[in-house]
Amino acid sequence: MRVLLVEDEPSLRAQLSDSLKHAGYAVDEIDNGLDAHFLGDTEPFDAVVLDLGLPVLDGLTVLKRWRSSGRMMPVLILTARDNWNEKVAGIDAGADDYLTKPFHTEELLARLRALIRRSSGLASAVLQCGSLTLDTRTSRVTLDGQSVVLTSHEYKVLEYLMHRIGSVVSRTEIIEHIYAQDYDRDSNTVEVFIGRLRKKLPAELIETVRGQGYRLGPV
Ligand code: CA
Repeated sequence: MRVLLVEDEPSLRAQLSDSLKHAGYAVDEIDNGLDAHFLGDTEPFDAVVLDLGLPVLDGLTVLKRWRSSGRMMPVLILTARDNWNEKVAGIDAGADDYLTKPFHTEELLARLRALIRRSSGLASAVLQCGSLTLDTRTSRVTLDGQSVVLTSHEYKVLEYLMHRIGSVVSRTEIIEHIYAQDYDRDSNTVEVFIGRLRKKLPAELIETVRGQGYRLGPV
């Protein structure tokens, strides 16, 4: 899952970025509203963490522009303490959730998980496909109750597919959701990750749909 992190305060941005990466997200970091607007308008993100007080273009304007051009990704806004009208304005502009600074990183991570699963139409933090489970809180994967050990990239691919059970997902789509923009992307690597996942999971779980991509289905 890929997150756009927009925060102009360098130390907070670095800290949040580390925490998000540690939690398994691909992270694009931006420090101003103009670049944030552009990236959010052109790249697919699973969620956005958006500070409202930003240089060049303020966060509220960025959010309004995304929503008016039909960008529907979940957005969590970061607001200043005791500024209740900023929260109201943010929610009215299309924010899905907010956090008031200062906050605990664990709370940010929990709220992001909730936003991402809600936008995929999922109710639980534990994703299930037949006898396969993936716990988005702990990044633990089990098959018939037994732990399956995955590398971080294998996990990211599986996590994305588990959010799209039954849908055909192209290689490009997978790439766009497991890597940040500055990463050296090679769509052939998806094939490699899928091949490895098939060795660790029931092979028929991930179906190849010729010329279109992959489909994770209950077997
Ligand atoms: Ca700020």
